[in-house]
Amino acid sequence: MDIQRPHVFIYIRRGMVLYTPGQTTGYPKTKVVEGIRFHYLGGGNEVGNVGCVIEDSTGTRLLIDYGLAPTRPPKYPDQCPPITDAIITHSHIDHIGMVPWLTQFNNVKFHGTSLTASVSEIMWRDTYKVSKIEGYPLTWDKRDLEYALDSWITHDYEQWFNVGAWKCRLHRAGHMPGAAMVEIETPTHRILWSGDLDTRDSPNTIGAKPVKCDILCLEATYGGKVHPDRTEEEHRLVSEVRKIVERGGVALIPAFASGRGQDILRILHRDAPYLNVHYDGMGTRLTKKWFENPEHIRDIKTFENVWRWTKKVSSKSDRKKALHADVIVTTSGMLDGGPALWYLNRLRSDLSNGILLTGYQAENSGGRKLLEEGRISIFGNLTKIDLEINQFQLSNHAGHVQLRNFALACNPKNMILFHAPEESRNVIFSELGQEIDIHLPVNGQPIHIIS
Ligand SMILES: [Zn+2]
Repeated sequence: MDIQRPHVFIYIRRGMVLYTPGQTTGYPKTKVVEGIRFHYLGGGNEVGNVGCVIEDSTGTRLLIDYGLAPTRPPKYPDQCPPITDAIITHSHIDHIGMVPWLTQFNNVKFHGTSLTASVSEIMWRDTYKVSKIEGYPLTWDKRDLEYALDSWITHDYEQWFNVGAWKCRLHRAGHMPGAAMVEIETPTHRILWSGDLDTRDSPNTIGAKPVKCDILCLEATYGGKVHPDRTEEEHRLVSEVRKIVERGGVALIPAFASGRGQDILRILHRDAPYLNVHYDGMGTRLTKKWFENPEHIRDIKTFENVWRWTKKVSSKSDRKKALHADVIVTTSGMLDGGPALWYLNRLRSDLSNGILLTGYQAENSGGRKLLEEGRISIFGNLTKIDLEINQFQLSNHAGHVQLRNFALACNPKNMILFHAPEESRNVIFSELGQEIDIHLPVNGQPIHIIS
């Protein structure tokens, strides 16, 4: 394939080498003779950082997702071989963050829902900004970003479209507004790619439904882990907020900008509408995109009311006012940056205030350090925090029970478990391995499914 705009693909920093010139890292040179080949560039035997090239004997080659893990330093997938089409399941950075790099391939098309396409600009500009501030290498530049924005082809759920000799369609994935699963019909197999998945309804989304298939590629982030009942967890959150407010404190709720934060607003509005709730961070811009793509939001009318009720922070003086609120919902969800740290620094000396973490806190994140050591780095200073800290499991990924039921209902002959810690894959493997041929991919080592 012609290269549209030559880049120099070498970036060396802190011992890291990204994309050596002239190489397509490890992608097999052999053609597929029969069956389907899955080659994970990232996210095979790890959480996040997802990219997978699927190819068959018709020569059709499709990339699904191309993200980077926003760790410090970030983790990048292997270099993608030439492609004409990529399907992007949703706009979280570990699925979309590297997509602008793909614009080096002539006339490449990115397929996704209208909301994913619409939110991509905010995610990419933010990724670019953070890489500059933190001094991390990025393999794409602003010009690539502009090309990428022009390369989207959007699809409604359930509408078939062609990629080479295959037919594809998107289904609701439940994980966040606009998130999609991908059904692929090849001449020999029906494939379902789950993307990040939740079969349970959440405040802003409707859960995913199973699709019958021959090969199921299933994200298994929470394999082996049983979620607490979602409604009970929501009530526990609200009652903790009430307790803090009744003792005269402010409840600080760090939450992701894209989904979780808006879920929290909806829960508070539903159960405690008398509260004075302020919302700060990138989520305000993202939510505007929700209103431009209302078909992706569960009961948009209710969410409009929630949004009117929420006090949006848009200036420094708003931020000072928010210090006197009942609740502040803000980014980042794992206390790795964003306004949450500014608020925490201001609120930490009054012990009537409290912190409510809304989900999993990744290793090396600020939130994890706070939970384990009671300390966190604020503007470069390791700071002891004496405030009450509570953690809630409001995950938007399917838990073990949902994953197992979903897999059985899809009734595949083969299943590929990806986007998961090793122990999570092992639990599902030992439970379903008798009924389904289960494959555990490793990045860079293709899996070939024939029957
Ligand atoms: Zn996600």
